This record gives sequence, structure tokens and C-alpha cells, in this order.
Amino acid sequence: MGGIPGVGKSTVLDVVSRRLGGRLLIVNYGTVMMEEARLRGAPDRDSIRRLPAGVQREIQSSAARKIAQMGSEFLIVDTHFSIKTSQGYLPGMPSHIISALAPDSLVVISASPEEVSARRAADPSRNRDPSVESVREELEMELLFAVAASNESGAPLAIVMNRQGEAERAAEDLLRVMGV
Ligand code: ATP
Ligand code: AMP
Ligand code: MG
Repeated sequence: MGGIPGVGKSTVLDVVSRRLGGRLLIVNYGTVMMEEARLRGAPDRDSIRRLPAGVQREIQSSAARKIAQMGSEFLIVDTHFSIKTSQGYLPGMPSHIISALAPDSLVVISASPEEVSARRAADPSRNRDPSVESVREELEMELLFAVAASNESGAPLAIVMNRQGEAERAAEDLLRVMGV
């Protein structure tokens, strides 16, 4: 499951986790990357996308290997189909990563640019760019990269809207498209 920073992925997955409990393993890709990223000079998770693209790609690859070894009846990966970097958009699920993870289904979490911008601005725990223009472009690029990942893997792609104050409904929609 992917979406741009601040769209509400982790919030929606908290709801899913409360609903499904022990039947489900939720893995945050950024958390798996963080241990190695810290050693490569990123002090927090919002600094990973500011590392040189080559370094991000190395850490991305080792995280995929670790996640591919995790086993569970249901595994949901909280990740990004694209990462906005100073060198351009980095694919979050290039072909070797999507092949290693072999997902059954892909979901993009989305919301309006204004909603995401407001969420970024109101969340002091993270360091995200609140500009509506940037958010608008990131949302468009996220969808394009998700389509590419779907085409590469053959896994169907669904879009789930995480509307303001409706994370519960987004969680229900997510479970429905996952067939749970
Ligand atoms: P990142 O990729 O940076 O980890 P994320 O997609 O996991 O971002 P969250 O941390 O889940 O985003 O949410 C960002 C902020 O938006 C949080 O403050 C959260 O409480 C808020 N939020 C999430 N979903 C909703 C919603 N449906 N309505 C209102 N606020 C929301
Ligand atoms: P998150 O908490 O979801 O924002 O994850 C922290 C950071 O990890 C993101 O902002 C990205 O820089 C990085 N990240 C997460 N998933 C991927 C991925 N599939 N490929 C590359 N970087 C990723
Ligand atoms: Mg998150």
C-alpha cells in the first residue's frame, strides 16, 4: 500500500490493525530502511529522501530483502510508489523491488491536495513540505508510479480515498479491495 507523505497511510493502517489484530502483519518500509539510513547519515525518517539517490536505492534494496523474508497470513507494506528527491522522483517499487515483494494487490491511498497539505501542516511530529502545489504534483506522480508497478507485477491496482475525518471508512475500503 502506497501514498505520498502525510496522506494518512499509517493512520488508516492503525485502524486496519485494530480490526484484524493478530491475523495481520503491517510492515512500514521506511522503518525497515531507517536502521541502515541512520548509519548512512539520516537522523530521522523524513531525512531518508534527502540522502543521495544512490544511497536511497541501496537501502531500498536491502529493505526489500528483509521484508520478502517476513511471513504472515496477511502482510501489508506501508510504503511509497514514488519518493520526491532533489534528483527527481525515485521509484519506490522499481521492477526488482516489486518482484522481490510479489504483491497480490496494490493500493494507492489518496486525498485532495488541500487535505494532504493541511495534514502535513498540522502534524508537528514530521518534517513534510506543506505546499499545495507540491502535494498536487506528488499525488499525480504517485499514481503514475503505482500504475507502472501494477503493470510490472500484474497485481491489480485500487485507489482508496482517505477523506477528512474518515480514516475508518478508508480502512474498510482497503480491506474490501484486499478481499479481507
Ligand atoms: P508518511 O508517509 O509521511 O509516514 P502517512 O501517509 O503515514 O505519512 P499519517 O502519519 O498517517 O500519514 O497522517 C498524517 C497526518 O494526517 C496525521 O497527523 C494524521 O492524524 C492525519 N490524518 C490521517 N488521516 C486523516 C483523516 N482521514 N482525516 C484527518 N486527518 C487525518
Ligand atoms: P514513511 O514513514 O512512510 O514516510 O517512510 C519514511 C521514508 O522511507 C519515506 O519518506 C521514504 O524516504 C522512505 N521509503 C519508504 N518506502 C520506500 C520505498 N519503497 N522506496 C524508497 N524509499 C522508501
Ligand atoms: Mg506513515
